[in-house]
Amino acid sequence: MSFTELGLAHEIERAVREQGYETPTPIQKGAIPGVLAGRDLIGCAQTGTGKTAAFTLPILHRLRAGTRGRLRALILTPTRELALQVAESLRDYGRHLRLETAVVYGGVGHGPQEDRLRRGVDLLVATPGRLLDHMGRGYVDFRNLEVLVLDEADRMLDMGFIRDVRRIVRALPARRQTLLFSATMPDAIRSLAKEILRDPVNVEVAPRRSAPAAGVRQSLLPVATDRKRELLAHLLQTEARGLTLVFTRTKHGANKLARHLEGHGHAVALLHGNRSQAQRTRALDAFRGKRARVMVATDIAGRGIDVEGIAHVVNYDLPNVPEDYVHRIGRTARAGATGDAISLVSPEDHPHVRGIETLIGHTIERRVVPGFAQSAAPQRTHGAPRRDREYARHHAAGGKPRLNPSPDATDSPAQSNGTGWRGRGVRRAV
Ligand code: AMP
Repeated sequence: MSFTELGLAHEIERAVREQGYETPTPIQKGAIPGVLAGRDLIGCAQTGTGKTAAFTLPILHRLRAGTRGRLRALILTPTRELALQVAESLRDYGRHLRLETAVVYGGVGHGPQEDRLRRGVDLLVATPGRLLDHMGRGYVDFRNLEVLVLDEADRMLDMGFIRDVRRIVRALPARRQTLLFSATMPDAIRSLAKEILRDPVNVEVAPRRSAPAAGVRQSLLPVATDRKRELLAHLLQTEARGLTLVFTRTKHGANKLARHLEGHGHAVALLHGNRSQAQRTRALDAFRGKRARVMVATDIAGRGIDVEGIAHVVNYDLPNVPEDYVHRIGRTARAGATGDAISLVSPEDHPHVRGIETLIGHTIERRVVPGFAQSAAPQRTHGAPRRDREYARHHAAGGKPRLNPSPDATDSPAQSNGTGWRGRGVRRAV
């Protein structure tokens, strides 16, 4: 099946072609016809399957006709990173349509988001806590809403957002199309789906299979969120001195981290889905040729990395999908060699740790780097720890992290770790 056969408007098909997509992925083939027909949908699919386009393309198709400047589609995501990514996809795929997309999330000021909402938008991507704030202040008008999407519903559950989601859904028109995407289908998500969806189409794409890597020393390093960059810098100066591959969860995060490392004198190769083929090739060549000792990558791009001699894989963020952890750490210790897989774990990563340990069938060694002790270390327990949920809620609502903040927490490596980073020359990234 081709994109043309899906029957999307030609402006959308053109944008998809410009993204370089040739054929729809299985979740897109399964979901797009039903969504175009106006059906509700449950999509059981992980990140990396093309699920974002599976809902954004038919929504753009639906919204391309009709009055502009009225909120007609709402997409809820658990994190700001995902919200930004979804908004970016809407803008990419909708580049030949005149539709306005806004994105609202916690952790930043309300003012610019309120101004944006006041000017009128067609599509809104939001994290639940911040959306409720805007609703409470009267900045959101749902009277014209036609489509609701819950993206990564199981993560919203893990992060304690389901009550907020229910409150939001109650404020929406009952006559609407609802799409729910989730990597897993725990009971709580099934019952939420029953409550808010009507006669949904079910589409499931099989999870990728993966085997744990051998020869890799794995460790988890607890760290406060705002000290991750500092800890990574410390590792690059001390134990991770060979070829190092650093994974982030999002393209945005990869860009930010690469810029930060370059600013501190590292030659960095950058690989993610928004880079052109030429940029990817240059980045891989530089990494392979050791002109860039550090490569920052996201999961999709990282899967294609076949480079000999990667000594360290650093999970700057843990992946959303446990299988991706295995893919990531498989980039080191190739051909019988040994390698290190180091995961930086801040409180919001704890649910991911449980998923990964369940998949690989054992616990991973916890290791504290002196100077970076963080007493909110992941526990080897089951069920979502309440402290994690509180942390996530508070964080998403725009507050500062409260869990045992380190007294010397700082965003500036040079101020606190004494490794003399700032004195080094800036090198050009690839
Ligand atoms: P997602 O699962 O939505 O996070 O998408 C994963 C990645 O696949 C993104 O980088 C998309 O740009 C890319 N992608 C989505 N659909 C397609 C497609 N039909 N062909 C090639 N790449 C795609």
